[in-house]
Amino acid sequence: MNFTNSIEAGKRARNVIPGGVNSPVRAFKGVGGDPVFFAKGQGSRLTDIDGNSYIDYVGAWGPLILGHAFPLVVEAVQKTVTDGTAFGAPTERESELAEIICSMVPSIGMIRLVNSGTEATMSAARLARGFTGREFIVKFEGCYHGHGDSFLIAAGSGALTFGIPDSAGVTSAAAGTTLVAQYNDSESVKRIFHEYGDRIAAVIVEPVAGNMGVILPEMTFLPYLREITKKYGALLIFDEVMTGFRLSAGGAQELFGITPDITTLGKIIGGGLPIAAYGGSKEIMSYVAPCGPVYQAGTLSGNPIAVAAGIAMLKALKSDLSIYKKLEKTTSHLAASLEKECRSAGILCVCNHIGSMMTLFFNRNKSVMSYNDAIGSDKELFGRYFHAMLESGIYLPPSQFESWFISSAHSHDDIESTLAKSKDVLRKIGGAR
Ligand SMILES: *Cc1c(COP(=O)(O)O)cnc(C)c1O
Repeated sequence: MNFTNSIEAGKRARNVIPGGVNSPVRAFKGVGGDPVFFAKGQGSRLTDIDGNSYIDYVGAWGPLILGHAFPLVVEAVQKTVTDGTAFGAPTERESELAEIICSMVPSIGMIRLVNSGTEATMSAARLARGFTGREFIVKFEGCYHGHGDSFLIAAGSGALTFGIPDSAGVTSAAAGTTLVAQYNDSESVKRIFHEYGDRIAAVIVEPVAGNMGVILPEMTFLPYLREITKKYGALLIFDEVMTGFRLSAGGAQELFGITPDITTLGKIIGGGLPIAAYGGSKEIMSYVAPCGPVYQAGTLSGNPIAVAAGIAMLKALKSDLSIYKKLEKTTSHLAASLEKECRSAGILCVCNHIGSMMTLFFNRNKSVMSYNDAIGSDKELFGRYFHAMLESGIYLPPSQFESWFISSAHSHDDIESTLAKSKDVLRKIGGAR
């Protein structure tokens, strides 16, 4: 494959944009080499600026559960944009999107729209602190909740890939009110509550971890978080920016039957446009300004074009809930086949998957159930797998610690073609060791 134009575009970009990218995970630091610049997305396919075509498993990092350029979303954007791009005043569409979300996510009675997942989690933390009058937030090592100061502690994916657990520029005051527990380790949560219990505003968690690679919650883990937060009067925040409308129409909370106090959403709810949200019961949400004392605002929040795209997306999902079963089936088949291929190539791996999320960990353990299990994966081998797959026309997330996303646009042929190419690649890199 020829990447001449992407390489040139990278040089140009690095001259005026830090690292040539507007979000660090795009820079291929986790796998080495130069990022590919894209021109077009259609269904399951991406085309780069050299004219190479790929089957895409990044899906814009989560939003595109119905594939690229989903016709109803494109149409909604086109129809809306000619009426003006922003008003800075309420529109009826915002209520429509809010009503759809409230009707689909069990714990949400009221919702506030924001512009990114980062804003949603920052606002959710402020709300939890304002509501409880307490300061501490408990998070889990390897879980990512956006780049807000208080969450850039042991923060997963981007940070994991770079081997920097923290960020420069985060004050000790911000870091000092974040307590870090271990995912799937209820004892670690219990210890923190024993010491700080009456000062903890909230526990925030990715109900299924997606930002250290996909890690499923053990059966008792989420129920334990619900129980201990209730016992101590703290709130439980499910960060469903990735899992919301991805694992089921009601997100992970519906799938696992747990009712969080606050939920953060993003990615899918904008259909690929910048929109996110936080919501909860009417009692909690009434603490948000202008109803209550917790201030949070946004010039472009509830942007008409993004909202129209979100409505089209969620209506499409709501009208055909069978898509979730189909996605699960496709993904289990892909995961099981990849594990089998690794085994026959003599490569040790664990392929975690749930719904349409999946990570192939090159890992010696029998299972990957914790942050420590995940970081034991062979990043170097993943880098070689990634590049060989890229050369074969398969675009995977450029890090060992990310979720692959399968969309309804991935056809049977796409999956079989991916498996055939992967088989060759695994043989090659397995044999080379
Ligand atoms: C992507 C993500 C975020 C951050 O969302 P942005 O829109 O990138 O700011 C927060 N939490 C989780 C779980 C995510 O996957």
